[in-house]
Amino acid sequence: MSTQEITEVRRFAAECIEAAGGVFEAANGAVAEALLPEALQPAFGGHSLIELAFDGQALESHPEAELLTVGTPALEALIAYAARHGTTTCGVIQTDRLRKKGFLETVQSEITLTGGCRLRHDERDQEARYAAYAVFHFRLSLVSDERRERVVILPVNLWSNRAAPELAEALPGLAVTTGRPWMIPDAPRAPIPDAFDTARAWLEGEVGRLQESYQARVLRRLEVDVARISDYYEGIATELRVRHEHEADDPERRRDLDAKIAAALDEKERKLRETAERYRLRTTVRLAAARLLAQPKVFGRFLIDRKQVTRELTLAYDPVLERLELPACESCCQPVHRLTVAGGKLVCPGCAG
Ligand SMILES: [Zn+2]
Repeated sequence: MSTQEITEVRRFAAECIEAAGGVFEAANGAVAEALLPEALQPAFGGHSLIELAFDGQALESHPEAELLTVGTPALEALIAYAARHGTTTCGVIQTDRLRKKGFLETVQSEITLTGGCRLRHDERDQEARYAAYAVFHFRLSLVSDERRERVVILPVNLWSNRAAPELAEALPGLAVTTGRPWMIPDAPRAPIPDAFDTARAWLEGEVGRLQESYQARVLRRLEVDVARISDYYEGIATELRVRHEHEADDPERRRDLDAKIAAALDEKERKLRETAERYRLRTTVRLAAARLLAQPKVFGRFLIDRKQVTRELTLAYDPVLERLELPACESCCQPVHRLTVAGGKLVCPGCAG
């Protein structure tokens, strides 16, 4: 594990154990002591006081410790616990903007209502709530003739169950604390397994893009190697053929040279196969850590009238990223900029038919 990963896992373990009511005491970078609350003891063999080692080296010097790294059952158990007890293992993204002035105008500029729909909003119909993100840390390895590893951090918005890579970019600059300064309710949230599926689907696309750019560089190196190997063995074969020409009177010598030429060409093929295998790209993705973040957002109740039908729509405004979260079409579930009411449902023009 890289130092960064050890830090991530250790921070996650500390947050998880403390949020569950336990005590976490870091001894040094790779070893810690923890007093576990009852709920976490089954994950650690029923013990209440444990030592944790965050890499193999630390385990060697602390053989009594429980190893807590990516892929160990103990870490899986902590992740599962954190997923089940979301509210208690939360970081909180701070903001004090709990109302949205001009919410109606913002919505009107972002969303077009078609089919003669009318949009209404009363600014008193706004409510601040803690909206949650599940933040997944994936370890991605791209291995060919060289190994590249990176940690991909992806928050999933649990209100909409959508990937929020833009939050990952903003996170380093945001104030994240553990306390909730506002007495406001929680917004509904998607189950963690659903959010994890969303993260995996997003990651697949991301891995595809990374593989492409990585593969392009690998292919250039492969081409250079293929040319070098081909030139070398073809050179040997050419030299042998010239000698073959000069041995017109000696059939035994010629047979011997024929065999040598064939062997050189076989060797070339073998080397080319070996090289192709060495450059073949293998990708692995693992979940390294997960945590929950909460952030106040402004939820506004909107009314959409079309003829005799009125539909209610709740929209979320994110005061941290300063943007409206797009509503989803009730038929295809995609986030949309254009909406209409059809058959009593709020749908995109495509689904309205
Ligand atoms: Zn649709």
